[in-house]
Amino acid sequence: MKNLSLKLKITLWYTIAMLLLSTFVVITINSVSNDILVRDISKRVEETVNQTAHMISLPRHSKTPPPPKFKTYNRGVHLMIFDDKNKLIHGTVPFAIEDKIDFNNLKPQVKTYDGNKYVVYDKPITLNNQTVLIKGMASVTDESYSAMAMIKTNIILALILILVASLGGYFIINRALAPVTKIRKTAKNISESNDLSQRINIPHRKDEISDLANTFDEMLDRIEQTMNREKQFTSDASHELRTPVSVILSECEYMADCATTDDEYKESAVSIKNQAEKMSKLISELLMISRMDKNSLQLNIEKTDISELLSFICEEQMQIHSKDITLNANIMPDIYADADKFLLARLFINLISNAYQYSHAGDEITVTLTESKDKVIFRVADTGIGIPEDKLSKIWERFYRVDSSRTASDNNSMGLGLAMVKEIAKLHNGEVSVTSKAGFGSTFTFIMPKGL
Ligand code: ADP
Repeated sequence: MKNLSLKLKITLWYTIAMLLLSTFVVITINSVSNDILVRDISKRVEETVNQTAHMISLPRHSKTPPPPKFKTYNRGVHLMIFDDKNKLIHGTVPFAIEDKIDFNNLKPQVKTYDGNKYVVYDKPITLNNQTVLIKGMASVTDESYSAMAMIKTNIILALILILVASLGGYFIINRALAPVTKIRKTAKNISESNDLSQRINIPHRKDEISDLANTFDEMLDRIEQTMNREKQFTSDASHELRTPVSVILSECEYMADCATTDDEYKESAVSIKNQAEKMSKLISELLMISRMDKNSLQLNIEKTDISELLSFICEEQMQIHSKDITLNANIMPDIYADADKFLLARLFINLISNAYQYSHAGDEITVTLTESKDKVIFRVADTGIGIPEDKLSKIWERFYRVDSSRTASDNNSMGLGLAMVKEIAKLHNGEVSVTSKAGFGSTFTFIMPKGL
């Protein structure tokens, strides 16, 4: 039994259950119908004998029995008249039991003669001043034969129905469980071939197993997307690291083989330092993003004076960047919120330094901090180069740069800044959005709740 398939087990179980139920029903019907049969026959025999007795005892002119309307066989009942010495004077005793029958069954009774059951009822009456006995006999065995024949037909019909129900049931279970077989095969294929693009793909039906199969497919979609993102991330990260590493290697080779003067050594050392700084920045950003991904970043949420933090960052950014770009800071004082100070500073720095990076001399940057009842609203708008509309949705992707040729030479441009901004916003239950027009500038807005 253990080794049988689930569909066979289910079919077997309910076939056995149906057989047991049918057997129980047949046995019950059989015993009940026997009782009912005996009761019916007894009633019939009694009625027939009584009717006959009534009929023949009616006053009439003829003096000799039998009365003209006496029927020896009526409604399946053998009728006989015996005189007071138990001698048959009218009617016929059923075949071959003449010498065995007994008398004075004043209530209908079941008697067995020659292996056959009879209901027997005797009624003494006075006829022409003589006491006679009207005897009625009806065979139970004969009638139970026809009842048995009916039960047999029913048993055969029930067996055919059970067989049809079992086959139909097996077919339905087979159909219902087909997705399970497909799930098993798909899971096996995926684990053997490592090909996450396989799907169960069963037509949409409204049952639990189809739901399971569709949920399984959706889960595979998500796993595949995550795996692809991981792969892309790893390949992009290695690609980004390859450039500074090759620069460092070639500078080292130059120092070992060609450099002779102090200035040449110094120039190579500066170049190596720049590339190492770039690598270090990239590695720490990669580390932070991967920690955010795995939710393993330890958040240090505390009540933070956002106004003070942002004012400080604006000051710092003004000092770092070109004086030809004006930064206007409209910061409402005393705005507090629950935040991770370090991460929020990272978000502000990334957005403001982007505004500087993608603006030209003479452009303007406006940083605004306001609040609503329960939200903090930060906005940075620049009049810089802007972002083409078709690229707007992609700028949040890791390593994405709108114009890589423009930024490739720039040490700070790795396409990770906005991806990080998005993750930090998410960690603060906030939202970040952008509006931009190529050639006219961009506005980034970050809104977060005051309490987390
Ligand atoms: P990057 O390190 O290249 O700045 P980000 O993730 O910060 O990476 O930004 C992704 C891309 O979005 C940038 O390469 C740039 O093309 C575009 N971008 C971001 N901020 C601005 C802005 N203020 N103005 C114009 N383009 C921007």
